[in-house]
Amino acid sequence: MNVFEYQAKEAFRDNGIPTPRGVVIKSIEEVESAVNEISLPCVIKSQILRGGRGKLGLIKFVKTMEEAQKVAKELFASEYNVQILLIEEAVQMDKEVYLAVTVDPVTSKAMFIACAEGGVEIEILAKETPEKLITVQVDLAEGLGAYHINNLIFGLGLTGDIAKQFGAMARNLYKTFRACDANLAEINPVFITKDEKVIAGDGKLIIDDNSIPRQPKFPLMREYFDTQVEYEANVEGLPFLQFDGDICLMCAGAGLTTTVYDLVSDFGGTVATYAEFGGPNYTKAVRTMELVLQHPSKVILVITFGTIARADVMAQGLVDAIKIHKPSIPIVTCIRGTGEEEAFKILRDAGIEPLTNTEEAVQRAVDIAAGRV
Ligand code: GDP
Ligand code: MN
Repeated sequence: MNVFEYQAKEAFRDNGIPTPRGVVIKSIEEVESAVNEISLPCVIKSQILRGGRGKLGLIKFVKTMEEAQKVAKELFASEYNVQILLIEEAVQMDKEVYLAVTVDPVTSKAMFIACAEGGVEIEILAKETPEKLITVQVDLAEGLGAYHINNLIFGLGLTGDIAKQFGAMARNLYKTFRACDANLAEINPVFITKDEKVIAGDGKLIIDDNSIPRQPKFPLMREYFDTQVEYEANVEGLPFLQFDGDICLMCAGAGLTTTVYDLVSDFGGTVATYAEFGGPNYTKAVRTMELVLQHPSKVILVITFGTIARADVMAQGLVDAIKIHKPSIPIVTCIRGTGEEEAFKILRDAGIEPLTNTEEAVQRAVDIAAGRV
């Protein structure tokens, strides 16, 4: 899970990393007091979950209150669905450095990546002159040693008090990385100011999805998602994606759902919604249907194969969901696995034909969506 820059910077500050002073706002009415608090000139930074904001014109310097009002209005109205702005003091910087801690999937170690030339061109630099990147691996069990930090500092050619401050920042970034169960903790740029201060100019933090329950500081926020229904599905813990096709998949199991998606495409159909109510969610058919019906589709295709997730429970859930939500579109089912005899009976008693062949069920749904049935 990717979190906003202002949240990454909060985590940085909690772990001793200096950041510019900033105020978060969610409406144009808050601009004046935020700018007054930070004082001019300041930087207005769009909080969206993607990088490259500088190049997209979503990071703006302002010198006057009028300019701040105008820029904030434009950013809130931009095509990038900006709902939060971070108003920050403008830092007079001399140099931009890149610093990150991530996971090296090859060695299963933590890995620092640093570069003396940070900033918005780092991706291009990494591609064209990768030898300018310094990497230092840290064995997670051994932990961070002074030599790791020294290797970074020497590699970047830093000396004196700047080296000392940068070393502390690197140690604290590693601390943040571990404390937040992060896959990535990145500062690009690290500002080195004319008066020799080392400050985190930007912040990016990706929390390991499996650790979200351990990280109550980062609750799911509506602003992370494009639509209300995607947000609600995620809060519910239901894997849920929206597309602009015809067939709504209400399936169980990531592998099976993905296979069904492929089969739909293979048979000439298109997917409207990818919703998965398997695993720990196998009792949530009613809620899943409530969510999927909020997105238009022509047919609901239910394909499940449960082992611990019982077929009869999912079939009963589906029947209950139909009673409650009364979908106006047809439903095709192929519900298999533990308790399937009972599941078939439940479906038949409710007037639903239980298919037992996945490809036949997919073909039926594709035909319905195409108006052939
Ligand atoms: P990103 O493009 O999404 O990575 O957004 P950043 O927060 O990194 O901002 C983009 C660029 O704007 C940075 O690389 C800096 O060059 C510049 N920038 C942002 N804030 C300041 C600031 O306070 N002072 C100065 N001088 N430049 C800044
Ligand atoms: Mn950046």
